[in-house]
Amino acid sequence: MNYLTIRAKETPLEEEEDEVVPGLVHRYPDRVLLITTNFCATYCRHCTRKRLLGKGGTVKIYQEFERVLDYLKNHPEITDVILSGGDPLTLPLLKLKFILDGLKTIPSIEVVRIGSRIPVLLPMRLFDRELLNLLSQYDFLWLNTHFNHPREITEYSKRAILNLLKCGIPVNNQTVLLKGINDSVPVMRELLKGLLKIKVRPYYLFHCDPTKGVSHFRTSVYKGIEIIEGLRGHISGLSVPTYVVDMPHGGGKIPVMPNYVISMSDGKIILRNYEGMIVSYTWNKKKEEDILWENKEGIYGLLKGKRGYLIPEKTERIERRRNR
Ligand SMILES: *Cc1c(COP(=O)(O)O)cnc(C)c1O
Ligand code: SF4
Repeated sequence: MNYLTIRAKETPLEEEEDEVVPGLVHRYPDRVLLITTNFCATYCRHCTRKRLLGKGGTVKIYQEFERVLDYLKNHPEITDVILSGGDPLTLPLLKLKFILDGLKTIPSIEVVRIGSRIPVLLPMRLFDRELLNLLSQYDFLWLNTHFNHPREITEYSKRAILNLLKCGIPVNNQTVLLKGINDSVPVMRELLKGLLKIKVRPYYLFHCDPTKGVSHFRTSVYKGIEIIEGLRGHISGLSVPTYVVDMPHGGGKIPVMPNYVISMSDGKIILRNYEGMIVSYTWNKKKEEDILWENKEGIYGLLKGKRGYLIPEKTERIERRRNR
């Protein structure tokens, strides 16, 4: 194996290593991921599950679903099941019903999330009354979809989302950060604001996994942090996703953020806001006196308590205040 094949894999997340029963990945304490199919409405270049998708054959879980249910019964700490694939909404209705009914028999399961790109890629599927009637029968359903670009938000996808919401299913979104596609603040703002407009809550922004054949789509983690910096505070907090990097060796998702903590002591913390304003925040007056620094300027001045904030001049907000 050479360096490149070690880095770019068909299985960058080592999900098979955490597969406790065929199709069931148990990585985090209270939730599991169930691979329900290897079929999708389209095959994304950046898919992290290339080891399975579009390879024909069927996924084993149907024969072994009893084992999945037994595992869940024996692990009541698991309260959240993610139906993934492939795309569970491409399943024949009977299979989907079979899975959902099975999960319904486990009292400890509180939330079932469907991971599906159908609202984006084949929204007409969600105009089907039979499917919608089935979905509205389960109180535990949530849906995570996958819009990557504002151009994917169409009249059709809007209708599909509305149909899901009418079934009582909250819809969240997971975007993959793709170089040359959505790796800029303006495109990302347009996407996220567009999602809120159709009542989809942005949940995760994923750094692109090192799956095979995507090196041209992968950008730096620095870029992702820069984008979050351009979102948080600037646009509605409801539309700001959590940026996460999924670690190799099964390390799972780790959130990465711009740093808003400039300095701290036991009694005080120095923070910066999205505009660059630097503020000291005190929660323990007594401890404030313990601060030994002599320099009273800049950040040290804030810690020493000689001033309360440092503020950049001429920001829009400050100008608005002055003109009031
Ligand atoms: C992403 C993921 C989950 C869910 O994680 P959340 O942070 O709760 O969304 C669960 N299991 C696996 C294997 C995952 O990759
Ligand atoms: S829709 Fe999701 S599971 Fe299907 S190919 Fe695309 S990224 Fe992979």
